[in-house]
Order: sequence, then structure tokens, then C-alpha cells
Amino acid sequence: MTDLPLSAADVADTGSASATMTDDELTARVHDVVIIGSGPAGLTAAVYAARASLEPLLIEGVVEGGPTGGQLTLTTDVENFPGFPAGIMGPELIQNMRQQAERFGTRFITEDVTLAEVTTTPVTLQTASGKTIRARSLIIATGAKPRRLEVPGEDELWGGGVSACATCDGFFFRDKHVIVVGGGDSAMEEATFLTKFASKVTVIHRRSELRASVIMQERAFKNDRIEFLFDAEVTEIHGRDGLMTGVSVRDTATGAMSEVEADGLFLAIGHIPNTWLFEDVLDTDDEGYLVVDEPSTATNVPGVFACGDVMDHTYRQAITAAGTGCRAAMDAERYLAGAEGVTAAAPDAEPATASTDA
Ligand SMILES: Cc1cc2nc3c(=O)[nH]c(=O)nc-3n(C[C@H](O)[C@H](O)[C@H](O)COP(=O)(O)OP(=O)(O)OC[C@H]3O[C@@H](n4cnc5c(N)ncnc54)[C@H](O)[C@@H]3O)c2cc1C
Repeated sequence: MTDLPLSAADVADTGSASATMTDDELTARVHDVVIIGSGPAGLTAAVYAARASLEPLLIEGVVEGGPTGGQLTLTTDVENFPGFPAGIMGPELIQNMRQQAERFGTRFITEDVTLAEVTTTPVTLQTASGKTIRARSLIIATGAKPRRLEVPGEDELWGGGVSACATCDGFFFRDKHVIVVGGGDSAMEEATFLTKFASKVTVIHRRSELRASVIMQERAFKNDRIEFLFDAEVTEIHGRDGLMTGVSVRDTATGAMSEVEADGLFLAIGHIPNTWLFEDVLDTDDEGYLVVDEPSTATNVPGVFACGDVMDHTYRQAITAAGTGCRAAMDAERYLAGAEGVTAAAPDAEPATASTDA
């Protein structure tokens, strides 16, 4: 892993198309499509909506639900996004997507949405600076945040050994010792996956028993590259020259402290979907993710669609987020064109007005 070549600010600093529209014009108009979120889901939705001449407005967020450009701006090499045989830096991939969306006429506002009234017609949003934005259809692409340990060293070593995605970063830990923090199914899955690369995986769990399903536990227990540290919590992550070297661990039963040397630490203590704007209005599942009427991206409110990690706690990849972003734009387009049954769009149906070369 190397230093990030671009900051989140660079990602936003690509010359906003909204420069051609004043704030008064942005707030006076009822937009056909407004997209919240500038990760792969929101930006892909913008490319599709813009190419369908819907002149989408994308509110790209700053702090509230993660950085401008989303989670990929927090990482370095992305090696599993098709089309880049040599890999690409996360911020650069996002910047490319943003430029592509802009090229077809997407307008951008770089601030957080602080209030959303999605049951009104049109949908009404309030931004942090007090702008009121109205839309005939809304695409929610607000993503999710990995739960953090909130311990010293975590922020500094994020991307320098500390990660929340084994699928994304496991490859960089060939023949290394890594730690997985957590005791649920995802922790077992991440630990088992990481043994493809790492020489040793230590699962650190706060309690004396795992929460994971029996089958996942058995699989992990049988794997001789995985060892377990129960009743233990990480209190600090250590590093040298930006690279992780180990952790301090506290025994939750006795309070005794110890040190564990390791090259990487994977957080598997859950994600927090950015759905607070829509609480009690849009349906969510037990874990708080937005529920859509698969295979469409329609939520329980007509004209409101959701894509990316905010509605997907299973795959959580840039490519899957982009895929659902494409679907959301096509669903919004069908909705605006008055297509019947948009809340349960037939997967093989042609979008009402989409160009066939999309
Ligand atoms: C460290 C790390 C490394 C990763 N590496 C890879 C990898 O190598 N390959 C891969 O495929 N995936 C990787 N992932 C996963 C990938 O980044 C996510 O699956 C993907 O970014 C999800 O895209 P998204 O568009 O749904 O949401 P996000 O990327 O989370 O973007 C959400 C967007 O919504 C905005 N937002 C949220 N709330 C508001 C609000 N109230 N107002 C305005 N805007 C708001 C945020 O600012 C952000 O722009 C990685 C993730 C992490 C954390």
C-alpha cells in the first residue's frame, strides 16, 4: 500500500458543473432526479441518469455519512474493479467516475443533506448551508460506514495495515500475520478468507464465546492457520513509518495487558448504514439497511430508490454498488416516464426512454 495520491478535496475539485447554475436556479427548479452520495453507486446512477438527459443533481456529501467520494477515497490500490488491469487508486477511480458523470451534464453540490422529506411531492431536501432542493425522484446512495474500534493508532494506520475489507485488502498480506477483530459470521468469514494469503490469522473477540453461526465457527476452528484470543479487546494499534506493527490487548476478565505483533488488522464488527435521514419513513431490515423491492431498487415510497452499500449488507463492493446505481437510475427513469409497476420493475423490461446504447 502507498500514500493516497489524491485527497477527498481533490476528488471534488474537478470543476463543478453546478458552477453554470446559480444557487437560486438550483433551488427554484424541481429536479427530475436528485442523487445523494458520491461513491460508486451515486456516481454510476449519475452517469446513467445524465445520459438519459435527466440532468441529475448529485449532492455529494462531506462529513455526515463519510467523505466526499465515499469509502473508496479512504483506500489506496483497488485491484478488483474491472477495466483496470494494473489496478487503480481508489480516489483516482472515484475522480474518473465523477468526471464521466459531469461530462454528460450532472450538476454537483458539495455539502451534506441534513433533512429529507421523502413522502411529499416533490421530495424536499435541506442541505447543511440551508438550501432547499426539490425533486420528482430521489436516488439514495449514502453508503455505510464500517464500525470502528475508536482506539489510538486506528486513524493513523488506516490503509497502513488497518482495514475493514478482507476481500479488498487481504491480497496485500501474503505470508503475514493479521488480526481479525469480531466474533460474528463476518469475522469468521473474513478470518477464513484471509488464510488464503496470511500465514497466521488471530481472531480477537471481547467475549468468551463467538456469536457466529455453528457452521461458520466449525469452519474457522478447523482451520489450523486461525487462532483465537477470547475475552480480549484491542486498546491501541501500533505502527512504524505508517505501517502497522502490532496491538495492545486487554484481557476483559482480568484486566491484564499484553502485546501482539501483527502486520494487519481487519475490523469485522459491523457496518452502520447511513439511513438516519429516512428513519421511520423508509423500510429498513433488522440491521438498519434500506429495503428495496428486488430486483428493482424501489423503496416503499414511490419515486424513491436506493442503491449501493446503504441497501446491501451482503456484497459491499465498488462494482456491486455501481451495478445497483445503474439499476436505480434506470428505475428512476422508468418512474418518471410513468411506467407502470416501477416498484417491482421486470428485470428484462426495456427502460421507457433509455437509449439502447447505454
Ligand atoms: C478501506 C476500504 C477499502 C475498500 N477497498 C475496496 C476495493 O478494493 N474494492 C472494492 O470493490 N470495494 C472496496 N471497498 C468497498 C467499497 O468502497 C464500497 O463497497 C463502496 O464504496 C460502496 O459505494 P456506495 O456508493 O454505496 O457508498 P460509499 O462509497 O460509502 O459513498 C457514500 C456517499 O454518500 C455520501 N453521504 C452519506 N450521507 C450523506 C448525507 N447525509 N448527505 C450527503 N451525502 C451523504 C458520502 O459522503 C459518500 O459520498 C473498500 C471499502 C473500504 C472502507
